[in-house]
Amino acid sequence: MIQTKGYATDSPEAKFHPWAFERRDVGPHDILIDIEYAGICHSDIHAAKNEWEAMMPTTYPLVPGHEIVGRVSQVGDAVTKFKVGDVAGIGCFVDSCRECPPCKEGYQQFCQKMAAYTYSGTYMDRVTPTYGGYSDKYVIDENYALKVTSDGDLAGVAPLMCAGITTYSPLRRFGAGPGKNVGIVGLGGLGHMGVKLAAAMGANVTVFSTSPSKEADAKALGAHNFVVTKDPANLESLAGTFDLILDTVSADHDVNMYINLLGVRGTLVVIGVPPNPNVVHSFGLIFGNKSIAGSLIGGIPETQEMLDFCAKHDIKSDVEVIKPDYIETAYDRTVRSDVRYRFVIDMKNA
Ligand SMILES: [Zn+2]
Ligand SMILES: [Zn+2]
Repeated sequence: MIQTKGYATDSPEAKFHPWAFERRDVGPHDILIDIEYAGICHSDIHAAKNEWEAMMPTTYPLVPGHEIVGRVSQVGDAVTKFKVGDVAGIGCFVDSCRECPPCKEGYQQFCQKMAAYTYSGTYMDRVTPTYGGYSDKYVIDENYALKVTSDGDLAGVAPLMCAGITTYSPLRRFGAGPGKNVGIVGLGGLGHMGVKLAAAMGANVTVFSTSPSKEADAKALGAHNFVVTKDPANLESLAGTFDLILDTVSADHDVNMYINLLGVRGTLVVIGVPPNPNVVHSFGLIFGNKSIAGSLIGGIPETQEMLDFCAKHDIKSDVEVIKPDYIETAYDRTVRSDVRYRFVIDMKNA
């Protein structure tokens, strides 16, 4: 077994502490990644505090982290995709059944036997717990690791593994590109990636935000327009003008106001999870053949496509790099949206 140093929490109220555990030995198809950076995703916070107990109860001790980047330090005999020294990434899952229709089609996140999530889950033996990227090593089958070819500092690459693919996938699926009007609701960890990616795809990008103070940032990230949503008058002239709107907001809000902004056959994609159900007015959808869609991360092929796109267009997340002893504070600040735009834990010096 491989001795691993991680940072764990033992209950919803507990604090993170250093924790030693073991990962499996490197098998024929495995690679060992020496983790350099792990992003802090809002899901980590929900898991640490067991806030999604009804859907996915947290298994403690919990080592979160599914935005992982590091260097390959060992490869199994049968590995072909990686060699020692390569930069590799890990996203939200580390294995799946490989046989069901979603797995075969490359949508492993929807594995019918349930994928092995990167933390707070089990491997496909359904016994061995998974521990995430707030740790110094990860052993993973090469088919579930991503190749990273981005140049330079890797801290900004880590958040691509979740925030990047979460926004890239619906932008591609609904045709963001030249001549398309794309709206991004909320300028946080997801929203800032959505702006960068949609702009790089050639779309005309508008940010919708409640904070007028974010306008300069939005434009610097690549947005062409910025709309403060607190005043409904700002939205009236935009009715019927958007092809696609990504709604990243996880607080309760009225989606009908965004449906109204869609043009004929436009789509509103929800990727945030507000606590309460939304009430949708059917007339708003019917008049204009409009759609509401959801989207969850991406499978391995599309995640790799996203990473290659980001390498080509030099896209990374804007990050604040922290040490592990700052995790608690970083969680508090993330909950307050006091980060531009993602905390990343430096695991190579931890
Ligand atoms: Zn995430
Ligand atoms: Zn499957």
